[in-house]
Amino acid sequence: MSSAPIFINFAYIISAALFIFGLKMLSSPATARRGNLVSAVGMLLAIIVTLLNQGLDYKWIIVGMAIGSVIGLFAAYKVEMTSMPEMVALFNGFGGMSSMLLAWGEYAQHPQMSVFIAIVAFISAFIGAMTFSGSMVAFGKLSGKITQQAVVFNGQHIINSLILLITLAAAIFFTMQPDTAMGIKAFYLILALALVFGIASTIPIGGADMPVVISLLNSYSGLAACAAGFVIHNNILIVAGALVGAAGMILTNIMCKAMNRSLANVLFSGFGSATQAASGGDGPQGEAKPATAEDVFYILEAADSVAFVPGYGLAVAQAQHVVKELGDLLEENDTEVSYAIHPVAGRMPGHMNVLLAEANVPYDQLVEMDDINPRMDTVDVCVVIGANDVVNPAALEDESSPIYGMPIIETFNANTVIVLKRSMNPGFAGIQNALFFRENTRMYFGDAKVAIQALVAEFKS
Ligand code: NDP
Repeated sequence: MSSAPIFINFAYIISAALFIFGLKMLSSPATARRGNLVSAVGMLLAIIVTLLNQGLDYKWIIVGMAIGSVIGLFAAYKVEMTSMPEMVALFNGFGGMSSMLLAWGEYAQHPQMSVFIAIVAFISAFIGAMTFSGSMVAFGKLSGKITQQAVVFNGQHIINSLILLITLAAAIFFTMQPDTAMGIKAFYLILALALVFGIASTIPIGGADMPVVISLLNSYSGLAACAAGFVIHNNILIVAGALVGAAGMILTNIMCKAMNRSLANVLFSGFGSATQAASGGDGPQGEAKPATAEDVFYILEAADSVAFVPGYGLAVAQAQHVVKELGDLLEENDTEVSYAIHPVAGRMPGHMNVLLAEANVPYDQLVEMDDINPRMDTVDVCVVIGANDVVNPAALEDESSPIYGMPIIETFNANTVIVLKRSMNPGFAGIQNALFFRENTRMYFGDAKVAIQALVAEFKS
C-alpha cells in the first residue's frame, strides 16, 4: 500500500511496537512515565524516517516543527495540573484540524480520487473538522471562557440530525465525482457542516462532563488521523490513529462505567446543568457534627490506620504535598496510611493518581476502590479531602438519586469518617450527601490545604 522505501516501513513497525508498549505501560502509575517516554521515542523515530522520504519541501516543515515545538514546550512547562484537561482539549482539536488539512491538501493536489480514497478523505475531513470545533468548545467550557452550563433548546436534536443528513447527501455527491465543480462545492459544504456540528453537538453537554467528551473527541481525532493515513498512504499514521481511536474509546467507556452512566446520557442529557445543580438543597437533612483541627488531631493521633480519600477539592486546593506531609507524620506515629482512589474522583481520569504522584506518595500506598471497600470496616479513620459524589451513599441507597448505581468508596463503613471541605455545598452532581449526617462522621470545614496544614502544625507541636 505504501510507496515508501522498505526501511521506512520497517522503522514504522518499530514505532508501532513502541506505541503499543508505551500504551501498555501507561496503565500503571509505576510505569506511566516510562511508557510516555517509550511512546515519544516511537513518535520521534516515525517523524525522522518520514522526513527521509523523497520529494519533501523541508522549508515549511522546519517552520511548522519549530513553531509547534516552542508552543508544546511552553505549554508543557506552563500548564497547571488542574488545567490539563483544557490543554488536552486544545491538542485534540489541533490533531483533528491536522487530519482535516491533510485530507483537504491531498484533495486539492489530486482531485481525481478513487471512490475509496474519496470516502476516507471525507471521513478524515468531517471527523477532523468536527473534532476541531468540538474541542474548542470543550476548551472554552473548561477554562470558563464560555458558559459551562449545558446549552439545551427545543428542536436541538432535530437540527443536529438535519446537519448529519445534509452532510451525508454532500458526502455522496463528493465521493461519486470529487473532481467536478459540484464535488468541490460538496467538499466545502462538508467542511462547514462539520465545524457547525462539532459546536452543536458539544454545547448541550455540561462543563463538568467535558473530560468524558474530551476523551471521546480524542478518540475521534485518532479516527480522523487513521483515515488521513489512508488518504496519503502512510502506514504509521493509520496505526497511530487506530491506537488513539481505540484508546480514547476505551477510556470513554471506563469513565462512563465508573459514573454508572451511558455515553448517550453524558452526550444528550444535559447532566450537571443549572437546574440540576440547583437541586442541592433537597435530599438528606440532619445535624452535621463539626470538628476543629484539634479534635481531628486527637482522632488521628489515636488511629492505627488512616485512609485518605482525595477528591476534586484536593486538586483545587493543591493540597497534595501537605497531605503527603501529614501522611509521613502519621507513619512516624506508627499509623498505617493509605490513599483510596476512586476512578472518577476529580475532573479527569487518573486525576488523583497524578496529583499524589507529584507529591511522591509511594505507589504501594494507593489503593483502588474495589480493593479498599471490602476491608473498609478495618480502617480506623477515613479522611475525605474535597471529595463528595464519590463517597455519597445515595449512590447505593437512593434509587431516585441521579448518581444511583455509581460505585463509591464506602467510607461510612470505617470506624470514624472525617470530611474536609469548605461548606455543606454539593459537588459536581449537585446533590446533598447523607454521609455528612452519619453518626460516625465529623465535618472538618476549611480549605483543604489550609486545614491539613493546621493538622500538620498540631502534629509538629
Ligand atoms: P465533587 O465535585 O463531587 O466534590 C468536590 C467537593 O470538593 C465539593 O463538594 C467542594 O465542597 C469541595 N471543595 C472544593 N474546593 C475545595 C477546597 N479548596 N478545599 C476543600 N474542599 C473543596 O468531587 P469528587 O471528586 O467527589 O467527584 C467527582 C465528580 O466529577 C463525580 O461526580 C464524577 O462523576 C464527576 N466527573 C469526573 C470525571 C473524571 O474523569 N474524574 C469526569 C467527569 C465527571 P465545598 O464547596 O463545600 O468546599
